[in-house]
Amino acid sequence: MNALRLRSPVFSGIYHESDDVYEFAAFIAGKWIWKDEMIEVKSPIDLSVIGKVPRLGWEDIDHALDVAYSIGRWRIRDTPGWRRLEILERLASLMEEYRDDLVESLIINSGKTRGQAMGEVNASIDRLRRADLDARKIYGEYMPGDWDPTTLETEAVVRREPLGVVLAIIPFNYPLFDAVSKFTYSVVAGNAVVIKPPSADPIPILLFAKLVEEAGFPKEAFSVLTIPGKESNRLVSDWRIQAISFTGSSGTGRKVIQAAGIKQFIMELGGGDPAIILPDADLDFAAERVAAGIYSYAGQRCDAIKLVLVAEEAYREFRDRLVSQLSRVVVGDPRDEKTSMGPLISPESADEMMSSVEEAVKAGGRILYGGRRLGETYVEPTLIEMLDKNVLRSLRLYKEEVFAPVALITSFSNLDEAIELANGRSYGLDAAIFGHDIDQVRRLARFLEFGAIYINDMPRHGVGYYPFGGRKDSGIGREGVGYSIEYVTAYKTIIYNYREKGVWRYLAD
Ligand code: NAP
Repeated sequence: MNALRLRSPVFSGIYHESDDVYEFAAFIAGKWIWKDEMIEVKSPIDLSVIGKVPRLGWEDIDHALDVAYSIGRWRIRDTPGWRRLEILERLASLMEEYRDDLVESLIINSGKTRGQAMGEVNASIDRLRRADLDARKIYGEYMPGDWDPTTLETEAVVRREPLGVVLAIIPFNYPLFDAVSKFTYSVVAGNAVVIKPPSADPIPILLFAKLVEEAGFPKEAFSVLTIPGKESNRLVSDWRIQAISFTGSSGTGRKVIQAAGIKQFIMELGGGDPAIILPDADLDFAAERVAAGIYSYAGQRCDAIKLVLVAEEAYREFRDRLVSQLSRVVVGDPRDEKTSMGPLISPESADEMMSSVEEAVKAGGRILYGGRRLGETYVEPTLIEMLDKNVLRSLRLYKEEVFAPVALITSFSNLDEAIELANGRSYGLDAAIFGHDIDQVRRLARFLEFGAIYINDMPRHGVGYYPFGGRKDSGIGREGVGYSIEYVTAYKTIIYNYREKGVWRYLAD
C-alpha cells in the first residue's frame, strides 16, 4: 500500500491513482496539467515510489511565463493591497483546515518526524499571517529639490514597485515553508510568482498550490513548474523573469546566477554553522542545544551546526556532555513516535556522509559518537574529534557542507583562534556563541563574518521574524519578514518639474 494517504477531498482533483501510486498534475496559470512523461517521487523512509509528477516541457513553461508576464503580473498588481492580504489570510485558514494532509506529505515525502512536519506547517501559516509586517516595508520617499541648484523648483517621489514575475526555486529541506515564504513576500509586493519545486519532494508544494487556487488568488499570477533542476537553464535565463529567489546549495546557486544573467537575486545558499563554547558557558544547556543543532532533521538544515569550537578549559567536560546528548537520539522511521531523527533524503546523501567521515578518520579524526550507516538512508548522528587544526582545515567536513548529521569538534586556546577557525570556512550563514562574559561575547560578535549570530542558542531561522541570510558562499540578500521586500521590488523615481510656475519663491543670491 502507498505510504502516502491524502484524506481530504479538496485535493482529489489534483491527482489520479494508478497502481497505488498518486499521479499528480502540475499547476500552470490556473489549469491542472497532466503529462505522459512523469518524474518519480520516492519516500526517503523506505525508497518506495509514492507519487509521480509531470515532467513539463518548454512549451508548458513558456506558456506559464507568457500568462504570468502578459496578464498575471498586472492582475496581482491591480489587486489592492488590502485584498492581497485578505487572500493570504484566507490561504492561512485553508492551511489550518487541511493541516493533516500537509503534515502527512512532509512526513512521507520529506522524511520529517511528526513534530518537525507540524512545525513546518505552523511556521508556514505564521509566515502568511506576518504578511502585514511585509506590507509596512513598502514605502517611498518624498524628496524636495532645493538642496541642489540643478533641481531647484522640482520635486520627486521615490517609490517601490513590484518587479513583475518572481521565480522561486525551492530546496528539498523546507519545501512547504520556503515556497510559502517566497510566495508571501513576492505577492505582498505585488508580483506574480512561478515556483520551481525540488524534484525529491514536490508533493507538499502541489498541495499548497491547490490551496492557493481555493483561496481565490488571481490564477494567471501563479504556476508550479515540475521540471528537473538540471533542465532549468532556459527557465532561469528567461527575460520575462525579473527576480529569482533561490534557496539551495552554493554550487547550484552559482550555476543559477551564471545562467540567469542580469536580474535581481535573493540567494540563500549553503551553510553549516560553527558553535563556539566559552569557558563560562552553561555546559549542560549548551550541549543540549548544540546536539539539537547537529541532529535536528538529520542535519539537513542550512543552519545546522557542523563545527564545534570549545575553549580548552571546558573542552573535556563539554565534549562528554555533548556525546551523552547525542547518545539519546533515536534514529528510525519518522512515523514512529519514539523517533527523534528520521532518514536522509536519499541514499546518495548517506554515501556522501559516510565517505566524508571515512576521510576524516583516515586523517586521524576520532569518532566520539556515531559513524555508522544504519540503512540506505539512515545514519547515526556523528561527532568527530580533530584536535590538529591544520588537518582540521584540510577536511572535507570543514571545507564543504556535508548535508547530514555530522559535526567536527575541536578546542581553542584563545578567542583569535576560535574566530580564525570559524571564519576560515567559505560559508558565512550563522554562528552560535555560548557563554556569559559580555566582553568576550561582544568581541566574537564583532569579528565573526556571518549573517546572524545566535547568543546562547542554536541557530534556527524559524519563521524568519529575524532576517537571515549569508555572507561569502552562503549567499546574497536576506530572507525574513519585511526584509525580502527589498529584493522583489525596484525603486522608481518620479520627478515633477514646476520651474517658472511660481510654486516656489526662492530668494535671489
Ligand atoms: P540543490 O540541490 O542546490 O537544489 C535546490 C533547488 O535548485 C532544487 O529545486 C533543484 O531542483 C534546483 N536546481 C538544481 N540545479 C539547478 C539548475 N541548474 N538551475 C536551476 N535550478 C536548479 O539544494 P537541495 O539539496 O535541494 O537543498 C539543500 C541546500 O540548500 C543546502 O546547501 C542548504 O544549506 C541550502 N539551504 C540554504 C538555506 C539558507 O537559508 N541559506 C535554507 C535552506 C537550504 P532539483 O531538485 O530538481 O534538482
